[in-house]
Amino acid sequence: MTDAQMNGFDTLQVHAGTEPDPATGARQVPIYQTTSYVFKDADHAARLFNLEEVGYIYSRLTNPTVGALANRICALEGGAGAVCTSSGHAAQIMALYPLMEPGRNIVASTRLYGGTYTQFTQVFKRFGWSCTFVDFDDPAAVEAAIDDDTRALFCEAIANPGGVVTDLDAIAKVADKAGIPLVVDNTSASPYLCRPIEHGATLVVHSTTKYLTGNGTVTGGCIVDSGKFDWSASDKFPSLSQPEPAYHGITFHEALGPMAFTFHSIAIGLRDLGMTMNPQAAHYTLMGIETLSLRMAKHTENAQKVAEWLEAHDAVEKVTYAGLKSSPYYEIGKKICPRGTGGLFTVTLKGGYDTCVKLVNSLKLFSHVANLGDTRSLVIHSASTTHRQLTDEQREAAGAGNNVVRFSIGIEDPDDIIADLDQALKASA
Ligand SMILES: *Cc1c(COP(=O)(O)O)cnc(C)c1O
Repeated sequence: MTDAQMNGFDTLQVHAGTEPDPATGARQVPIYQTTSYVFKDADHAARLFNLEEVGYIYSRLTNPTVGALANRICALEGGAGAVCTSSGHAAQIMALYPLMEPGRNIVASTRLYGGTYTQFTQVFKRFGWSCTFVDFDDPAAVEAAIDDDTRALFCEAIANPGGVVTDLDAIAKVADKAGIPLVVDNTSASPYLCRPIEHGATLVVHSTTKYLTGNGTVTGGCIVDSGKFDWSASDKFPSLSQPEPAYHGITFHEALGPMAFTFHSIAIGLRDLGMTMNPQAAHYTLMGIETLSLRMAKHTENAQKVAEWLEAHDAVEKVTYAGLKSSPYYEIGKKICPRGTGGLFTVTLKGGYDTCVKLVNSLKLFSHVANLGDTRSLVIHSASTTHRQLTDEQREAAGAGNNVVRFSIGIEDPDDIIADLDQALKASA
């Protein structure tokens, strides 16, 4: 059966992008632990280098194990092509690289993963890029922030922390009108809960480190291209619409149509930036992704139960989770993520900094780590860890106030998760 004949998500997550190994019949995708591939002859090598034939040259560019994972994620997101990267942050830089030049900017949501905020403010500066941050709940404000140098909009489908769900359809309309792509970080939702391309996204980026791998083993990233953006419609994207000097004058959009962005990301992005995923990492993620739907359904079901229990607890001031009726994002969550809004939420305690530290220290089932999207339940008190360099005011603005604790709910028995929280809340009271 080809990928195109498979419809169900559960089928695609097990089969898409792979077939029994043509050399050995191996049922599982082999780990092709090789850096290079023997050319059939000089002609074959020339065709590969000219992009006239698709094949393997060198593992900084392509590798069969990594390629299988890219094709699997592409199928789950409903894209035209995909490229894996060494981390989620690498995927973000790689996604923007073909679109940007010195002096250009992106308009991004104020609600972003902390590391992304740092990348967009600090690293961008050194590339001559800039970023304007806007509240993406307000599409008119997003539109107003776009200028002639804007080359992309960027947001997360489900933004963490804060239980925010972005109205991707509304933002995609703004991007369309401006003739620029919408890039969506779909890490917190995963394609099981949200498929941003169906809501108008041009590019989807992932930290595969999180739910796609699912068990906290390897870092990785992925860019999925919808294949729907017309890069030649304006002169804004010369790397894709005009002869590219970095690849002996090929015009990617003309030569490769809907695969232009993907081929550019391999032939130039991976070749020159080298943010390549290794085949071992791809193997772990392929293993994890086979159970994505089962895990996400359980993460979501557990998070809902735990969030409801916490919301009713005396020591708790507020739970921010779009699955709760009290959330301002409840309705939009139903529209963008009809199967639920995932396993992440933040809790504001009535106690302060010390109570939160005590809670984190008292939890036994939860692991205190700087990660999310693991099978295990995880917790972090941002104010004493990731956000400890900031002032109280800055923490508050980032949604990481002194009395806020972030949870990533695992797939354990929900009664055990609740029992652990119950004893820790008592201990920290
Ligand atoms: C973790 C994360 C990233 C960064 O991914 P890495 O794999 O750690 O580089 C980006 N966005 C979101 C939403 C994340 O959770």
